[in-house]
Amino acid sequence: MYIFVFCEETNMQHDFDVIISGAGPAGSACAIALKDSGLKVGLFDKDIFPRDKTCGDGLTPDTVNQLALLDPTLLDDFLKMTGILSVKGVKLISHKGKSVTVPLLQETGKVGMYSASRLIFDDLLFRFSASQTNISAFAGTSIVSTKVHSEGVEVQTSKGVFSCKILIGADGENSPIARSYLNLQIPDSEKYIAIRAYYQDVKLPDGVNYFHFFFPRDTLPIGIWLFPEANGNFNVGIGMSISLMKKRKANLAQLLQKEIDNGLLTPYFSDAKAVSPIKGHTITVGRKGRPISSNRLLLLGDAAGLANPLTGEGITNAIRSGRVAALHLQDCFRQNRFDATFNKAYDKEIYRRMAKEFKNYRIMEAINTSSFLNNYIIKNVAPHFTHVFSNPALVNKEQNSKFFLLKVLRYMVFKG
Ligand SMILES: Cc1cc2nc3c(=O)[nH]c(=O)nc-3n(C[C@H](O)[C@H](O)[C@H](O)COP(=O)(O)OP(=O)(O)OC[C@H]3O[C@@H](n4cnc5c(N)ncnc54)[C@H](O)[C@@H]3O)c2cc1C
Repeated sequence: MYIFVFCEETNMQHDFDVIISGAGPAGSACAIALKDSGLKVGLFDKDIFPRDKTCGDGLTPDTVNQLALLDPTLLDDFLKMTGILSVKGVKLISHKGKSVTVPLLQETGKVGMYSASRLIFDDLLFRFSASQTNISAFAGTSIVSTKVHSEGVEVQTSKGVFSCKILIGADGENSPIARSYLNLQIPDSEKYIAIRAYYQDVKLPDGVNYFHFFFPRDTLPIGIWLFPEANGNFNVGIGMSISLMKKRKANLAQLLQKEIDNGLLTPYFSDAKAVSPIKGHTITVGRKGRPISSNRLLLLGDAAGLANPLTGEGITNAIRSGRVAALHLQDCFRQNRFDATFNKAYDKEIYRRMAKEFKNYRIMEAINTSSFLNNYIIKNVAPHFTHVFSNPALVNKEQNSKFFLLKVLRYMVFKG
């Protein structure tokens, strides 16, 4: 059980300046971004790495670029890893079976698009954090309760009590810390369920090294992904908002199976075998204005609900939030301010960087609910966004631009 208590206490001696609960991409990124800060960081995760996490395992150029921004050595370590697969681009297949290929441009250089199981990706980030001199990393150690005092936070873990000046909740989608301190009621339209399974012997006639997105009518607006992995297996999955699932009485596993047995995926799955059970999880998608900090507390990644509303992609913003939090934390220590009012600057900076992405993709999601418009976009709009897929700086700039939707509309109206 997870217990939170607020109380007054003075003159606390602290074991750490910062304690991070959760060493997924968000928590590890925050720790790594603090490596030269001089702050003493405790990074805790309830699991022992390598550990799996239910995911599509897809990493965009923007995700990979986040590694470079954290530390170029980390990117080099990533690129040297066995078990990652470099993909050449994206294939979009409409409900009519028409496909469009959006290739990565050569200019992408090192920062391409990859699939990497979370077993190896998160392990890399955790090990990189643990190797920094100012970071004490505790795997297999749950945070079970916390007490916020006037001068710090007392953290009860499964292996003893620690204290810090400020607590970071990077403990994922069901974050006990977020629930206890901010207790937000997330509407069903902002909560998605996504499921995935691994298959072997999937046959893709036109080459395997593309991320495939299928858009059967019943699964819109998000569709079904099929991502190749380095070991020859494929990660196959589907997601939908809970509100839409309720409205359509949709069962995601059945929708996926239907498309495999007798639908858009059938030609590729004639000899395919499932090599894992189906696993699922909720994803809270981003919305500007949801509070993500409090007194002596910042939330990151899934704990803050920062996933993309159309794609469900959350690793990029998890890492980005870790980087933003690290900058804010250094301000906290410089100014000796850890209160809720001061921490609002963190919320502001997160939404400055992400709010337009959330808004643009929510509108795109609404448009993509129509199979006619989805088909039209795949044919006429997607090919014009090759540069966006390819250049991490542009991905962020474009999807955070107020002109993004206008560009989409321009290509819809004038057919490029
Ligand atoms: C089916 C599915 C497919 C997806 N596909 C993609 C994709 O292809 N690409 C993409 O970018 N995103 C994808 N996502 C989203 C992505 O998985 C998340 O956005 C991402 O994992 C967020 O990282 P995080 O560090 O915030 O949280 P997590 O990765 O969940 O890490 C949280 C960590 O906190 C730890 N923890 C929890 N409670 C405690 C505690 N009490 N004490 C200590 N530690 C604790 C956990 O063990 C865990 O290691 C997908 C999600 C789902 C469900």
